[in-house]
Amino acid sequence: MRGIRRIPCGNVNCYLVQGEEGAVLVDTGYTGYVERLLDTCLGAGVRLIVLTHGHLDHIQNTALLMERLGVPAALHPADLGLLTDQQSQPLSAQGPAGRLLLSLSRHSFQTQAFLPFTPTVELREGDSLAPWGVDARVLELPGHTAGSIGLDVEGHSLIVGDAMMNLFRPGPSCLCSDPAAQRDSIARIRSLGPRSLYFGHGRPSHLPG
Ligand SMILES: [Zn+2]
Ligand SMILES: [Zn+2]
Repeated sequence: MRGIRRIPCGNVNCYLVQGEEGAVLVDTGYTGYVERLLDTCLGAGVRLIVLTHGHLDHIQNTALLMERLGVPAALHPADLGLLTDQQSQPLSAQGPAGRLLLSLSRHSFQTQAFLPFTPTVELREGDSLAPWGVDARVLELPGHTAGSIGLDVEGHSLIVGDAMMNLFRPGPSCLCSDPAAQRDSIARIRSLGPRSLYFGHGRPSHLPG
């Protein structure tokens, strides 16, 4: 069955994107959710793990899942530095919710760890996921991090990672490493036309055209 399945892992969402000839897992969530992810992914034909960006809450199970699913992982090269230093792209907060999130994420970046892994697939603007059996295209959405990407799935659904969040209502991420790039990425998302939006944080929503 084709489509996007949300896999909530605490306050972060991972997604299984099922295509005609394969599937990709988008993000890997926090430690503690690996069995939930495997329940959904084993037998689903997963051929690639796509990481929307390099932040801890989206990558913590990557090494384990690469091994258990026997698949490579993909990350935009501009976020590779986050795999060795989560604070290599300092974040600034937008508004009160951003300040709260910033203090929480600084704490987790300093106190939590993850098993090391090497992404062997580079994804860049316009790349197709057809080689992995899925009708989706990569959009570069820098701003939250330099290497943030989204996936435009079948031209009607957009997985935005943390470029946008749906904390109280859908909106731009309240944390970013480059506010100007972030504004451009939001304009880019809005220019795409109507889309169902799937966030790294919060419930799915719809973007009118
Ligand atoms: Zn993030
Ligand atoms: Zn996040």
